[in-house]
Parts: sequence; structure tokens; C-alpha cells
Amino acid sequence: MQVKKFLIAQTPEELAQWCKDSGFPGFRAKQLQQWIREKMVIEPEKMLNIPALLRQKLREDFYAPSMKIAEKAASSDGVTKLLLELYDGEHIEMAIIPAGDGRVTFCLSTQVGCPVGCRFCASGKNGLKRNLHTGEILEEFLLGCGYLGRRCDNIVFMGIGEGLLNCNELFPALEMLSSQTGFCFAPRRITVSTSGYIPGMQKFADLQKEYTLAVSLHAPDEETRAKIIPDPLRFPIKDILSAVDTYREKAGRMVTLEYTLLAGINDSDAQAEALGRLAFAHHAKVNLIPYNSTGNDFRRPSRERIESFEKHALATGAVVTRRMERGSGKNAACGQLRIKAESEKK
Ligand code: SF4
Repeated sequence: MQVKKFLIAQTPEELAQWCKDSGFPGFRAKQLQQWIREKMVIEPEKMLNIPALLRQKLREDFYAPSMKIAEKAASSDGVTKLLLELYDGEHIEMAIIPAGDGRVTFCLSTQVGCPVGCRFCASGKNGLKRNLHTGEILEEFLLGCGYLGRRCDNIVFMGIGEGLLNCNELFPALEMLSSQTGFCFAPRRITVSTSGYIPGMQKFADLQKEYTLAVSLHAPDEETRAKIIPDPLRFPIKDILSAVDTYREKAGRMVTLEYTLLAGINDSDAQAEALGRLAFAHHAKVNLIPYNSTGNDFRRPSRERIESFEKHALATGAVVTRRMERGSGKNAACGQLRIKAESEKK
């Protein structure tokens, strides 16, 4: 399929060049820039001060937009999941997560499916279909803002996909989100999550930007980790932690170690202490995530077990937080809406 360009991903220079090549005066590029970046509108028909001919040309040359909301699922704690249908009929998910203080976080996807295949995760179940384009990543943000009626306060790339396997499309999207000619989003408020894909972590560190990095460690030892993340995209823990050190030094940001708590797999007090010691030694924070079941063999530990784990990790001196238990309703775990849509398609 011939992929058109994405209007939202055009830089000011590219818009100016496109206007010139298409025979429109330079000030039109500035108007387009205002619609897209300031008013957050990409549909040509809504751009009221743009002539019909230019609107028609925009439609011909660009996706504007390329995706639509196919389904919504709200849980009782206020989290809304949106199933998004892409230009080629594929689906991804994004989540809108309110916090008690009124702030809102968008959780965005970076790939259609995921090649890592973490055993507890619905998103990796059927492998990778394709990478998302820069424009699609940005449209998720825009669509979320439209749905919410305002900009979000934080963005986390923790939806479907291993973002650091899609650096070529993700990094320009981060730049567009955070630059002054883009959406002026503070880099510190943007978090990229990785399963520990070291080549991507190194490239991310080389950006030397203050984005936040979250690494899904899920286990303090290789044997346990192998039960959770399969080969070949599982890297040795010591190398991951060395990449964590590099990121902290180059980006000047403390890294978060994400730890999904799975009953009977990685939730013992001894594992909590081992995790705490690793985090402390590498100046990283730990974020505990009690598992949301996706209908497989993995289970969430009991409340008592979670509390004991947290206590033992904290006793090492590490900084430990626990993710609020959110989005635990039907289809709420990451990737489940998409899996449902895919099976209905078949
Ligand atoms: S948890 Fe993340 S990295 Fe692992 S399979 Fe799911 S989407 Fe991919």
C-alpha cells in the first residue's frame, strides 16, 4: 500500500517547501503551522481561513487524519482506553489515565503488535505487524487531546510495542512533541518504556535529552527473567543496568525500573531484596506494577504479598513506588481491546 505523508508530522520547513512546490504562497505554510501546532487541528475542512483549493491539495497529499476511534472502554477508576483503527485497517490502543490531582497521562503505542513477546502480555501475543509512523504516533497524542478537550500533562510510551525498536519513527515524534516549533511538551514529562532493548537504550541516551526512561526489568536474576521475557530479545541484566548507568549520565535523568508483580514467579521477599539492591546500586527508582490478568497462566499476587514485597524492597534503601491499581476492568490490560478487534476481523 502506498503510504501518504502525515500532515501532523510535517516540520515548518517541510510545510513551507510543500506550499512552494504546490504553488501556494509562503504565508499559507504559517497558517497551516498555526492550525496544526496551536489549534491542534489537522482536518483540512476545519481550517476556515484556508482556500478550498489548498484544502483539497492537503487531502490529496496527506493523511489528515490517518486514524479514527473504533471503540472506547472506560473502567470505574476513570481510565479510558481507546481502540484506534489505522489507515490500513490495523488497530492500536491508547489509554487516558487521570490522576487524583487532576493531571492526566496519555499512554501511547509505538508499534502494531510487539516482537518482544513478554509472556504475560496480550500485546505481544501475535508478534509484530508493523512499526507506527512518526505521524501516527503524533496523531495518537492529538486524538487523545481532542477526546479529553485539552492537552494531557504527561505522556508515557508504554502502550503496544517496544518503542526503542522503532527509534527512527519514535525519535522524530519525541522531537516534534517537545520542540518549540512543535507541541512544546516538557521532555521530562515524556517517558519511554523499554523491555531492556540495549541498542535502542544506547541510541536514546545519545539524544542527550531529558526524556524519562523506564526499563521493564521484571526480575532481579536471569533465571526468573527468562520465564517472563523470551529469547531472542532478552538482554542480560548486567548489560541492561550498565545501559541504565549510561542513560543517567548522558541524559541526567534517574531511570525507573518497572517491575510487574506476578504471583509465584517474581514476588518473593528474597527477590524484592535483590531488586532493591540492584536499584540502589544503579541509582534507579523501582516502580511496582501488580499484574492485570489477560486470561493466561499469570496471576496478580495477593495484597499481603504485594505489601511484603514492597516493604522488603524499601528496606534496601531503594526508592520504591507502587503503581495505582487502575484500569482493572474488563479488557483493561494493555493490548486486550486490540486482540478482541483482531479476532473479530478474522
Ligand atoms: S510488555 Fe511491552 S515489550 Fe513486552 S510484549 Fe508487551 S508491549 Fe511488548
